[in-house]
Formats: sequence, structure tokens, C-alpha cells
Amino acid sequence: MLHKITSLTVRDVRFPTSLEQHGSDAMHTDPDYSVAYVVLDTDCGLKGFGLTFTVGKGTEIVVCAVEAVAGLVVGKSLQEIVSDFRGFYRLLTSDGQMRWLGPEKGVIHLAIAAVLNAVWDLWARAEGKPLWKLLVDMDPKQIVSCIDFRYITDALTEEEAVEILVKAQEGKQRREEHMLKEGYPAYTTSCAWLGYSDQLLKQLCTDALKSGWTKFKVKVGADLEDDKRRCRLMRQMIGPDNTLMIDANQRWDVAEAISWVSSLAEFKPLWVEEPTSPDDILGHAAISKALAPLGIGVATGEQCHNRVMFKQFLQASALQFVQIDSCRLGSVNENLAVLLMAHKFQVPVCPHAGGVGLCELVQHLILFDYICVSGSLGNRMCEYVDHLHEHFTSPVVIHDAHYMPPKDPGYSCEMLESSVQSHQYPEGDVWTLIMNK
Ligand SMILES: [Mg+2]
Repeated sequence: MLHKITSLTVRDVRFPTSLEQHGSDAMHTDPDYSVAYVVLDTDCGLKGFGLTFTVGKGTEIVVCAVEAVAGLVVGKSLQEIVSDFRGFYRLLTSDGQMRWLGPEKGVIHLAIAAVLNAVWDLWARAEGKPLWKLLVDMDPKQIVSCIDFRYITDALTEEEAVEILVKAQEGKQRREEHMLKEGYPAYTTSCAWLGYSDQLLKQLCTDALKSGWTKFKVKVGADLEDDKRRCRLMRQMIGPDNTLMIDANQRWDVAEAISWVSSLAEFKPLWVEEPTSPDDILGHAAISKALAPLGIGVATGEQCHNRVMFKQFLQASALQFVQIDSCRLGSVNENLAVLLMAHKFQVPVCPHAGGVGLCELVQHLILFDYICVSGSLGNRMCEYVDHLHEHFTSPVVIHDAHYMPPKDPGYSCEMLESSVQSHQYPEGDVWTLIMNK
């Protein structure tokens, strides 16, 4: 079957998370976790589901951008797309007129991520495999044929990428079995959103420790004295041997980041995440250099808009942890490029997740990274946030603080139709109720 794509629909789906401060950080104080949700229909009845994540207002702009690229997808068959996936990626990202809106960044790139996520979901469903397994079973040349190497060949050539993947074939089977048995290590961000009270933080941390969590992230950056109190509390709760990370969500200038984080060094954070502007490569390099003697690394990536930026971060030794995002970059295609570059530069990948569906999606990519690229779990873990999973048809399965490999075919981003309808903005029941209050 050719699986010809007959239509693309996109909807604005929002969850009122700001009501309880879920997801709050130093820069996003009242996020309503949202998605632009894409469904591809095919002539044989199979569907592909994809999404990109936003934090509320403006989702309608992403929806509009998805509609603008729909004409490049509808009418094509899945086989036509995947037989030249690099070409299709470039068709979407390099349209002669629309590339002016990016290129490969901002709203247009988020929209392309949603569309490509749906194409990958469709492909995995057509093959009857979860996406991670589709990738694991592909041969190195086929994987590399999905990547657009334009602008990154000075850091990683196609030949080098094949070489990395061929080398990692050894032990692949063993690592796959290991993942199926034990899952991929995760850390939790759910205990310490910036808007949570100390009491709530304590309660959530106690519960998380009981459930086997050993790695925790705290939001910081609004007030130094508050940060000291919260980090101290957190460290007391989790003890000296568990892992603590801090996340400033781009709050500081470079010098401020260095002095602020230095004053939190006594709490021994493994990394500071997004200390400054996500575009400031040299700033991140300066912060990395200043914090290295304190044993604190720099992590970033959730708003790193494309592979070219990641390339430069790696070349400049500006980060010690690469945080890929399944909806910020151009889907699996561009994330594959970043995983391979990170491996070449020997920097561990610790994906960004949370939001709506980000955990569901990125677990596939990090499983592939371990099984087929890095072969290592050293200093690696995937973010986990414990909400909104109930809206998905195949929600993540966490066991003893590990992501268990998904078994259902696809990319795990199909949402329950009832959830989509009730949360559709602004006409869904959930929103009409809030607006009429
Ligand atoms: Mg973050």
C-alpha cells in the first residue's frame, strides 16, 4: 500500500495548567500547556498523529503555520516521502517563500516539527512498530538518508555519521534487551516548579523518593534568597547522594548567571540549565568555563532552534549536557543529526520533556540514542514530568524512575479524541467553563 496522504487537520488544544502553577518557572510564570495537534489521513484509513508544544497564547499562530505548509504534504504518499526523507525535510524547511519566516526556527519550524512528527508516526504505524524500534531496525545508511547535513558538514559529515552508526552495531541487541528489561533512566521536574509552596515541594519530594526517584530538578532564577532556601530544602530532603539539577529558564545575563549559580554551588547541582539567552553561544561558553571549577555543568537545548545552533554550542564547548527537544527541532530527522553530533563531541544527551506529549515523544529518541549511537548511560537521563499523560492513547510507562520502552506502533502522540474536543481552544467545554466564570 502506498498510504497516500489525503488530508491534514490541525487543532489548537490547550490545558489550563496555569490555574495551579504547574510548569511555572522564572520566565514562564503562568503557562497553559498546549499543542498544535496534527492528524494526517490516508487513502487506506491509516492515520498519523503529530504535535508541537506551546505554552498557551500564540498556539493559533502555529496552527496557521501548519496550515500554510499543509499543501506540501497532502497528495504525497508515505512511500514517496520516506524513500527520499532528506529531500522531503528540505522541501518543508526550504520552501522558497516560506523559509523567509525562519529559516528553520521560530513558529514555522515548530509547525514543521508537528507535521514531520505526524509523518514519522504514520511511518511507524505502517510498519507496525513503535518509532524507537523502527529506528533501531533501520540500517545506518537509511538512518543517515533521513538527515539534512546542510550547514553541519564542518562538524559531522555523512560518512562520519555512517561510521558512528556502524561502530555502534556491536552490542546493539544486548542494549535493546537491557532497555526492554530495565528502561531508560529518568529524572523528575514535578516536585519543584517555581510557583509551588515549600510545603507542596516537601510533599511531592517525599512521594517521589518513595516511588524510587533519585534525580531531581529545581526551578530557580527569580529570587536568590528563595533559591537558596528551596535548594537547601531539596538537598535536605534528597540527601547528599541523590542528584540535584537547577533550571533558570534563561533568566540571567552572563555575569549574573555566574555569580548567582556560584552562590548555589554549596547545594552541589550537577548542572544549571538555560542560564541565559538560548541564542548566546559564547555566553554559555563563558558560563561553562567559569562554573567548571565548581563541578557544575551547563545544560541547554529546549529552545535551541536547530542543528546549526547545536553544532556551534558543541564546537564552542558551551554546554556539557545536550537537551534535545522533540517539538522544537525539525522532528526525528533533525534530532538524529544532533544525537550524532553530540556523540562525536562526546557530550551526553539528556532530553527535555514535560509539557504536553514531550515525554511520550522524546523517549523514543533517547532509546535509539542508547541502543544505536552512544551505547552509554553515563551521566545520561531523560526528563520526566508527571502530568497530562492521561490525555494520550499510549501514555508513557514509568517504572522505578525509568522510561519503559513503548510497545504500541507509532510515535505515542495520539491524543484521546474526547480530550482534544474538550480542550480545543476556545470552543471546548473546559474553556467555555473557565471563560464563563
Ligand atoms: Mg528547562
